[in-house]
Amino acid sequence: MRVNYFRSPHPLRLSLAAGALTCALALTSCAPTSSNVSVDGENRPVVLTTFTVLADIAANVAGNKLTVESITKVGAEIHGYEPTPGDIRRAAKADLILDNGLGLEAWFEKFVQDLDAPHAVVSDGIEIMEIAEDKYKDLPNPHAWMSPSNVQVYVENMVKAFTKLDPANGTYYQANGAAYKDKLQDVQDQLIRDLSALPTSQRALVSCEGAFSYLARDAGLSERYIWAVNAEQQATPQQITGAIDFVRRNNVPAVFCESTVSAAPMERVVEATDAVFGGTLYVDSLSEPDGPVPTYLDLIRHDAKVITEGLTGVSNGVLP
Ligand SMILES: [Zn+2]
Repeated sequence: MRVNYFRSPHPLRLSLAAGALTCALALTSCAPTSSNVSVDGENRPVVLTTFTVLADIAANVAGNKLTVESITKVGAEIHGYEPTPGDIRRAAKADLILDNGLGLEAWFEKFVQDLDAPHAVVSDGIEIMEIAEDKYKDLPNPHAWMSPSNVQVYVENMVKAFTKLDPANGTYYQANGAAYKDKLQDVQDQLIRDLSALPTSQRALVSCEGAFSYLARDAGLSERYIWAVNAEQQATPQQITGAIDFVRRNNVPAVFCESTVSAAPMERVVEATDAVFGGTLYVDSLSEPDGPVPTYLDLIRHDAKVITEGLTGVSNGVLP
């Protein structure tokens, strides 16, 4: 299922159309890959992903045969991102663009509409969970990568897309994909072991965004959030009251918020209840390389640890 949240005209449309005209007038100046030379001087195809989490997963499959980069930077808000003219120029030179799909990147369909670069939707084939409430009710929950089992499907889609792009190295991508899928399985097993050890009374995950549906499903946790999907209008008084009621009713010991959004609304929940702030979780972005989650596997390990320690009272987070 494809969902297009983008309904209003976009200012970049005009500059893209102007760019296409320039290309038509001077074909050679718009040939892709001409500047795709890596730091070691090798001419590798360039794969662009929409956000940092996908870039890390893709890099594990690509190995040293492709150059993988993320359009958005670490810490960026990816749902409502506004591409820059520089992003458009980079994308026009890319050999392949990967997006998550499921409506995650509200800006993406418009972004690629006028570009020649092929693109692949890496979530194709996963079992979709729907958003339970809010204005996005019944639409797919886009945060499918929060289940490492789903990411095994992402990897298969990447292997296919990379092999189509660079058939000579198909066996290489296949082998990298298989090795990374084994690591994903280890992280998935560990995640389920850690979280399923929580006592029944502490098996509730309360977060800012409803980004943990797949993880909560895998680990058998109940899930509650302040808002369903990061958007321009969030944390209404009703949404905060709803989270407060849930925490009080279920004696939830700790609540959490994600790295890419303000934790201020969750602070209100902490003030109004007996819950502590359990810590910052990572979902929509990796951290910087010297931060707590430089890779996707680190992200899942980190979140499982913060959730387990928060809910069992081993450690409290500090509100950012
Ligand atoms: Zn999100």
